[in-house]
Amino acid sequence: MTEERLLEIKNLKKYFPVKAGVFRRTVAHVKAVDDISFHINKGETLGLVGESGCGKSTAGRTILRLLEATEGEITFEGHNLLELDKRELREMRKEMQIIFQDPYASLNPRMTVADIVGEPIDIHGLAANKKERNERVTEILDTVGLGTEYMKRYPHEFSGGQRQRIGVARALAVDPSLIIADEPVSALDVSIQAQVINLLQDLQKDFSLTYLFIAHDLSVVKHISDRVAVMYLGKLVEVADKQKLFDDPKHPYTQSLLSAIPVADPTYKSDRIILEGDVPSPVNPPSGCRFHPRCPYAMEICSEVEPEYKDYGEGHYAACHLLEQE
Ligand code: SF4
Repeated sequence: MTEERLLEIKNLKKYFPVKAGVFRRTVAHVKAVDDISFHINKGETLGLVGESGCGKSTAGRTILRLLEATEGEITFEGHNLLELDKRELREMRKEMQIIFQDPYASLNPRMTVADIVGEPIDIHGLAANKKERNERVTEILDTVGLGTEYMKRYPHEFSGGQRQRIGVARALAVDPSLIIADEPVSALDVSIQAQVINLLQDLQKDFSLTYLFIAHDLSVVKHISDRVAVMYLGKLVEVADKQKLFDDPKHPYTQSLLSAIPVADPTYKSDRIILEGDVPSPVNPPSGCRFHPRCPYAMEICSEVEPEYKDYGEGHYAACHLLEQE
């Protein structure tokens, strides 16, 4: 892993219009991603964590331009992705692939595994002929632990874990440098989750991959991430080196997520922080710090002024008024 940046996100916003009335006028916006900035170095894994609906998947899709950004900058390998035309974007897409949460829904049920994995090779013209393409498919399937005997089978003939391996193979087929893994193990049994995570780690070493690994649970990203970013209601609230984040979480929301991780030792008494209420709506997010209606430490200023997101040393970023007072 190097300190060289592969991806840099600056002030990224993704708002969805809410339409109403006969004329379908825009009456409000869902602020799914609201001014987030972070980077990923070459060869590293950044875990992006938050409750469902916090905007993490929207952020992943916006980075890949599967959704158009409302505002901000996305720099990949020195190119601003938001300024690329269609042809340039297609070239760049080869370098950035996605693995989806639900491998079954994301695989075309009418296509064989050979065609699912071969499709991106065809789209990007990476094989001179069918023979070369099939050789490449065989090689990739072998890499993800699926033998050639599976090539002519259809997605419904596979288990969840195997289907996710097909999803991984499809992403790998074009030899990308960045993979955005959007909750890749959330739909799998716990016993299978570790196998897929181990596979992703092995592939990272073998193919010098960089990952943005999205999950709703800190325990899932703990094993695989180098750094972790925590998102709440469209905003990043904390980003740090994994060990620092687990040993010294600075933001009350991160502390509550960490306290919810089950501990194997039955004699260990954890001080679980139970959050009050549900995640508020991103259409009309709370004023000041968006976490204030649920934060056990909220002060008067928290509902009035948005805390600054800043570096509290060695790349440990957080946004909380408590930290400004220390
Ligand atoms: Fe809690 Fe205030 Fe910090 Fe927000 S800014 S996390 S409400 S203490």
